[in-house]
Amino acid sequence: MSDDRELLRVEGLTKVFGRGKDEVRAVDGVDLRLARGEITALVGQSGSGKSTLGRLLLRLLDPTAGRVVFDGGDVTAVRGARRRDYWRDVQAVFQDPFAAFHQYRRVESTLAAALRLAPDAEREHGRAAVEAALEAVGLDPERTLPKRPHELSGGQLQRAMIARALMVRPRLLIADEATSMLDASVRVTVLNLLADLRESREMSVLFVTHDLGQAYYLADRILVMHRGRIVESGPAEQVVAEPEHAYTRSLLADVPKLHPQA
Ligand code: ADP
Ligand code: MG
Repeated sequence: MSDDRELLRVEGLTKVFGRGKDEVRAVDGVDLRLARGEITALVGQSGSGKSTLGRLLLRLLDPTAGRVVFDGGDVTAVRGARRRDYWRDVQAVFQDPFAAFHQYRRVESTLAAALRLAPDAEREHGRAAVEAALEAVGLDPERTLPKRPHELSGGQLQRAMIARALMVRPRLLIADEATSMLDASVRVTVLNLLADLRESREMSVLFVTHDLGQAYYLADRILVMHRGRIVESGPAEQVVAEPEHAYTRSLLADVPKLHPQA
């Protein structure tokens, strides 16, 4: 990858939890690069360290060692106002959309609160910016904004969550098992939405999943994570067609049927 295509680079990133015999090397010397406008999937079984890596990239956790460089600037230890600036560039969507919304608040108030991080232009437009973000994810603002979370389906709420992230105009969206709780048909809608947003917003996506099938469907590149390390990486086609690592082959065996055109 040429330097001008690089959005994020990680070198020797390590996170150790606990001490002595309770020590867990959740992330163990990871090097990786994410390109501008590209969808990269991070795939591995539960416990392989994917969410810890995601939280390190989001600056929600301090690494034990290593560094994170975003758009040429070292963000490994940013705090305070500089960390809030970083959160404009890097947004996240997690597995459980119900946990992301306040149970008793209307969707409008949760989305409006996110505008505080948004660029000035979006903030000035207030309600219009919220509506535009909902329309971008295929939700009707009139019908969605007055609702409380339990009045929407999981798929609708996850799309609202993505809208909330988009209002901030991130350059990188980290989606950690964001489609895992959704029904198969809704899942395809959300995967296609992520693919569209990458095109229309020139946003990079790090798609974190335990499911190599979804990774293959969506991603340009696949990183395979096992016991805190990246054991294989390459173009999605190549990793699936010619897996080099035994662990990748075992993940492939868990995919009942790959459906590239589905
Ligand atoms: P994944 O997202 O791939 O399922 P995680 O990053 O959640 O994996 O977890 C990787 C390992 O780190 C697991 O062994 C998990 O138990 C451990 N771990 C994650 N977070 C913590 C924590 N806050 N304290 C101690 N151990 C943790
Ligand atoms: Mg996880």
